[in-house]
Amino acid sequence: MSGWPKDIHVLERGWLSSNSILLFDDFQRTATLVDTGYVSHAEQTVALVDQALGGRRLIRIINTHLHSDHCGGNAALAGRFGAPIHVPVAELEAAKAWDEDRLSFKSTGQRCARFHPAGSLSPGERVSVGGRRWDVLAAPGHDPHALLLFDARDGVLIAADALWENGFGVVFPELAGEPGFEEVRATLSLIRSLNARWVIPGHGSVFSDVGGALDRAEARLDSFEQDPVRHAWYAAKVLVKFHLLEVRHLPLATLFQWLDQTPYFSLVHQRYFSHQPWPTWRADVLETLLKSGALTRDADLIVDA
Ligand SMILES: [Zn+2]
Repeated sequence: MSGWPKDIHVLERGWLSSNSILLFDDFQRTATLVDTGYVSHAEQTVALVDQALGGRRLIRIINTHLHSDHCGGNAALAGRFGAPIHVPVAELEAAKAWDEDRLSFKSTGQRCARFHPAGSLSPGERVSVGGRRWDVLAAPGHDPHALLLFDARDGVLIAADALWENGFGVVFPELAGEPGFEEVRATLSLIRSLNARWVIPGHGSVFSDVGGALDRAEARLDSFEQDPVRHAWYAAKVLVKFHLLEVRHLPLATLFQWLDQTPYFSLVHQRYFSHQPWPTWRADVLETLLKSGALTRDADLIVDA
C-alpha cells in the first residue's frame, strides 16, 4: 500500500482471532500491541508478535474491547513479554475481578484465559507511540464499551468491530433488549467525520475505500433496524459458526448442549422466536448453517466447513 506508515504493522488473522496491530516506536525500540486474538491461537499470536517485534521491546498491550477474539491472547502475551494490559475503562473493574457475569465470555459460550489488567483507556485520552498520537474515541454499538484509536496525522483508524470492509460486528446489546442500533449509527457518523485514509478493521484486510465501507455498513444497519429479527437470526448463526471455528467439529448432541447452556441463545429465542418451541428453533439455526454450507454434517458429527 503506497504511503502506508512503516511504524504500523498489522498481523492479519481470520475470524476466530481478531487482527493484532503493532505500533512501533523506532527511536525507543519499543512497541505497543492492540488486540491479541482468540485464546486457542495464543501461542501462534505470541510467535507472530515475537517475530514482528524484531528485537523491539513490547511495553504495552491495549484492547479495543473485551470480546474473546480480541483479548484471548492477553494472558500469554503478558506472560511472555511482561507488558502491562490496558482495557477500556468501563470494563476495568469487571476484568480485574474477572466477573464472568459482566464480561462477555460466559454469555457467548466462548473462552478467554484470565488476565490481569494494569490500567485502562478512556475516550478523550491520547496514546503516544513514537511521534504518533492516537486519539481514543468511544465506539458503542457492537459492544457498549468499545474504543477506536485514530491517528489524525496520517488518517489511520483502528476500528476493531465497529467497521469492517463489509459490515460490522453483531450488535450485542440489541440481543439483550438494550438499545444498540442507534449507537451503531452514531459511531458510523463519528467515523465518517474523521475522514480516515485507512481503516484497520478487527477482521479482514486494511482498506482505504472508507466511504464505500460506511455506505455498506449504514445500509446493513438500515435493514437490521427495519427487521430486528433478521439481526437476531444473523447473531445466532454467527455465534454457532464461531464456536465451530474454535472446536472444528463436535457431536450434534454436544452442540445442542452448548446451545442450551449459552445464555445469548435463550435470550434471542425468548425475545425474537418464542413462537417456536426451543428444540425446533435450535434445530432451525443449525439447519440454516448446514444449508448455506457454513457447516457440514458427517453422521452425528457437525463439522466446520
Ligand atoms: Zn467484538
